[in-house]
Amino acid sequence: MTERRVTLTFDNGPTSGVTERVLDLLGGAKILSTFFVIGRKLDDGATAGLMKQAHSAGHWIGNHTLSHTVALGDRPELAYAIDEIEGAQQRIGKFAHPEKLFRPYGNSGRLGPHLLSRPALEHLLAQNFRTVIWNNLPEDWRDPDGWVESCIAQVLKQDWSVVVLHDVENACLVRLGELLQRLHDLGVIFEQDFPDAVTLTRGGRIVGPSKGYIAD
Ligand SMILES: [Zn+2]
Repeated sequence: MTERRVTLTFDNGPTSGVTERVLDLLGGAKILSTFFVIGRKLDDGATAGLMKQAHSAGHWIGNHTLSHTVALGDRPELAYAIDEIEGAQQRIGKFAHPEKLFRPYGNSGRLGPHLLSRPALEHLLAQNFRTVIWNNLPEDWRDPDGWVESCIAQVLKQDWSVVVLHDVENACLVRLGELLQRLHDLGVIFEQDFPDAVTLTRGGRIVGPSKGYIAD
């Protein structure tokens, strides 16, 4: 098989009772990933503790907005972008990845111009965030029976998959071990980093194809 790379990411957590078990499975398989956390969830001390646990296990912590309710491109005021981005970044605090990883809210994982507003993009550039999207969305929350097959099919189609899974109730957890085993059996190379193809901004510059992801 052609060499396939896979980066696993876990969005919308942390979630008590789920994130711990995701961490166990990843630890058992010696895979490092990124957890894109929702800022509001960190207001609960126990939940914030799960982020710290993920960080100390070597996973990267990224910002997945403060409220995860309205996509930045659907509410283009600068003040909203700052609240959503910086509100989460403050709560993540010293556990943030040094490159300030940020993943916009996609509204059911959709990619499109609703992801960012122009003011949000300017803010992410000015504050040196690394904005990371995705290219493998198996819809673990919507399709608990079929998402592993969807994920594998997509992995086989491209050189480097950046997979979005969810460490929330009723999503990837039940079949995550099976996915890891199947990816291992396929001989994929697990990466923690992200390819330029899914990196919209980094170090104050536009990297990937950002045009289709900004509501102008
Ligand atoms: Zn999300």
